[in-house]
Amino acid sequence: MRATGQISHQRAEAARAERQVRHAEAVIDLDAVEANTRLLRRAAAGAALMAVVKADGYGHGAAPVARAALAGGADMLGVATLPEAVALRGAGIVAPLAAWLWTPGEDLRAAIAAGVQVGVPSLDHLAAVCSAADVAPAGPDSSAGRVPVHVKVDTGLGRNGVMPGDLPALLDAVAAAERAGTVEMRGIMSHLACADVPGDPSIDVQVRGFKDAIDAAEAAGLNPRWRHLGNTAVALDVPGARFNLVRCGIGLYGLSPFADRAGLRPAMTLHASVALVKRVPAGQGVGYGFTYRTAHESTLALVPLGYGDGIPRSAGNVGQVWLGGKRRTIAGRVAMDQVVVDCGDDDIRVGEDVVIFGSGDDGEPTADDWAGYCDTINYEIVTRIASRVPRRYVGSGAPAVGDAAASAPESGAEGSAQ
Ligand SMILES: *Cc1c(COP(=O)(O)O)cnc(C)c1O
Repeated sequence: MRATGQISHQRAEAARAERQVRHAEAVIDLDAVEANTRLLRRAAAGAALMAVVKADGYGHGAAPVARAALAGGADMLGVATLPEAVALRGAGIVAPLAAWLWTPGEDLRAAIAAGVQVGVPSLDHLAAVCSAADVAPAGPDSSAGRVPVHVKVDTGLGRNGVMPGDLPALLDAVAAAERAGTVEMRGIMSHLACADVPGDPSIDVQVRGFKDAIDAAEAAGLNPRWRHLGNTAVALDVPGARFNLVRCGIGLYGLSPFADRAGLRPAMTLHASVALVKRVPAGQGVGYGFTYRTAHESTLALVPLGYGDGIPRSAGNVGQVWLGGKRRTIAGRVAMDQVVVDCGDDDIRVGEDVVIFGSGDDGEPTADDWAGYCDTINYEIVTRIASRVPRRYVGSGAPAVGDAAASAPESGAEGSAQ
């Protein structure tokens, strides 16, 4: 072995000894989640805040994020599916919790028994709730053994929710079920199509439709406590669509639905360690299909994250990572488990830290940059990071290693912050 190789080998060993090398990990800053929750709650000016932690907290980890959001003042939690809701209860989280996307015929009983509030977008859904209502608990989050439901109205999105023409019949059936003691209409909800497009005329149309739906509920003798139409964009920037509750997802994670970051702090930093470094000749093909070739003799760094970890395959030859103090573009295709970075003549060591994306504060790319590389939105970039990538939590709400985090009392979340 050449002397220079020997020396660089020794330096690499020393560098590795300084820090524990992790193959790859997503570091989640729970202090950022808590601060973002406070910011959104302040921005929403008087409306209560539902922290949306569906899709495993947009990839950040539903239970830890839920705890941090509750510590930051979230009034309730929201998820899409029933299994997501039941899993949060299984993690020991007892805060008010709603789930709004489910299929009649699916097993509802575990969710109802756990006091989960359910979205009801049709008569079929209401019938399913009524037939499972016998397991409703009589705890503080249900009304004397009745199932709390949120009637979901389509005010124009064309997705989940009852059409306005079918709303009166659904409301009458809900009112009858209330009188029968099986359900309680806890909320009325809808969702905007263009909340992130300032001034879009559809916002006013949907707000008017939602007001009509509230009027119809009241005319049917119903008085839902929560009236909610808006998401993060509404909390930040659409005062007329907040009603008395906003459902915030993306902002909790420090990402903005707008071009402007809005004071939010990104919570996820995706890291990997350089797994292999090697010198290759000019003209070396890199990766499947040889879509990249080295222009000169060069140093290649192997970064062990690929599409199996949630790196979009479309990032081949365009996505950038932070390595050795600068941004460098991925060389060649993204493989299932790895990408390669051409580092030219720079001195890159095995075990060296690579940041795929983070806050951007130190020069690294952000989830917004990655959304740009891959023609998608920041939501997808963080949410798609696979469970194969270990999450490590930092911040005051982070569970200590070996700590039974699941047993932390949620009702004391405010008190347990710091
Ligand atoms: C995901 C979701 C939200 C959260 O939206 P963000 O833009 O992430 O704040 C709110 N409401 C509904 C119905 C959703 O599905």
